Amino acid sequence: MKIAIYPGSFDPITYGHLDILKNAAGIFDMVIIAVAQNSAKNGFLTVEERVNLIKKSVVGIENVEVDSFEGLTIEYAKKRGANVLIRGLRAVSDFEFEMQLSQTNSALCDEIKTVFLTTKPKYNFISSSTIKEIYHNDGDISKFVPQPVYEYLAIKRNT
Ligand code: ADP
Repeated sequence: MKIAIYPGSFDPITYGHLDILKNAAGIFDMVIIAVAQNSAKNGFLTVEERVNLIKKSVVGIENVEVDSFEGLTIEYAKKRGANVLIRGLRAVSDFEFEMQLSQTNSALCDEIKTVFLTTKPKYNFISSSTIKEIYHNDGDISKFVPQPVYEYLAIKRNT
């Protein structure tokens, strides 16, 4: 059984993340999309909110589980019996950081391999940080995030 972990901040999940996740679900037996609880990063949404929004956005994809974790991704992957880490690549600018991260993870545990996936071109430019920027400036984010995220953030804005 090939189990893959797709770790990230997902603050919030976007159509870019979802496309990577669907591609991964087509390749691996089980994909665990896992929100990393990163104490160094100040979140916009809480980890619980992010997990709930991911759960609502992945309804219908059979072999996907949603979770969160603290600490090293590689330790979490070992604990879950995963053989693969999924990361997405957008532009060359992602490459240097992702390359370093994957090699660090290989040095920590060589049995777990990082697989890089890309999205369809129409989702390639989407990032959680630009979405937050648009949202905070009252722009329309409906093209960039799954419907449950759009609805939740619309309510959040008015409360
Ligand atoms: P992190 O803080 O770990 O980078 P993110 O939620 O920003 O978490 O991203 C998680 C993963 O998804 C990263 O590998 C990132 O490169 C990838 N990703 C995010 N948006 C896109 C996109 N539009 N196309 C391809 N990959 C993406």
